[in-house]
Amino acid sequence: MKKVIVVGGGISGLATAYLLQKKARAAKVDLEVTLLEQERRVGGKIWSIKEEGYLCEWGPNGFLDSKPQTLDLCRDLGAAAHLLRSNDNARKRFIYADGMLHQLPENGPAFLKSKLISWPGKLRLALEPFAGKPPLEVDETLAEFARRRLGDEALRKLIGPMVGKKEEEGDRRRKSGCQCRRTGRHPHLVSRRHSDLDRYSGGKARQ
Ligand SMILES: Cc1cc2nc3c(=O)[nH]c(=O)nc-3n(C[C@H](O)[C@H](O)[C@H](O)COP(=O)(O)OP(=O)(O)OC[C@H]3O[C@@H](n4cnc5c(N)ncnc54)[C@H](O)[C@@H]3O)c2cc1C
Repeated sequence: MKKVIVVGGGISGLATAYLLQKKARAAKVDLEVTLLEQERRVGGKIWSIKEEGYLCEWGPNGFLDSKPQTLDLCRDLGAAAHLLRSNDNARKRFIYADGMLHQLPENGPAFLKSKLISWPGKLRLALEPFAGKPPLEVDETLAEFARRRLGDEALRKLIGPMVGKKEEEGDRRRKSGCQCRRTGRHPHLVSRRHSDLDRYSGGKARQ
């Protein structure tokens, strides 16, 4: 019998353990998978609570359905019927910073008016197309990448809340994986091939 230990019961570990078992069954391989989780619950960043009639998400509240694998996994697990399409009324996002909620600006004029990022922070963001390239052979972390291209304040108030503190500051190996999952490409390559992120995201959206 083959034995595999999966460390971590977040979505990555759970999906890995599930797929290993599924593939082993299909290939008629005798496999024992043990999943180790340091907390008292599995799920990692994914966690919901119900309080006073409200459903609150501690972490993710959705995923993009552009990749079939995620929907396939939901179907396989019998969860497809529970999926809810995002509601256009919920498009407004808020970030808590400096003691208040700020609506996440959705366009240039709203961004200029927003108090989420200070004027020096906004100027730093505007310099993004001129950000230098990372040193050769450096596998930048997500935090280093965002700090170099967007500045400290954008990292703290925009990137941090979206990906979670640990992912933003975790160790290099962990973040490289995290970046690949998120962008589909490594930021190191992105920043070598594209002079600014705006053009990168525009190009990618059209692919
Ligand atoms: C506020 C917030 C909102 C988000 N919104 C979205 C969203 O809408 N859509 C989206 O797709 N993504 C979103 N994300 C990102 C998404 O939640 C994460 O990318 C994803 O949940 C990470 O899963 P993971 O399994 O890789 O890591 P984690 O969820 O961090 O799981 C890792 C697990 O490993 C355990 N562990 C670590 N070390 C050990 C060890 N040595 N031994 C045993 N166990 C260990 C940890 O306790 C944890 O349970 C959001 C994240 C945050 C924080």
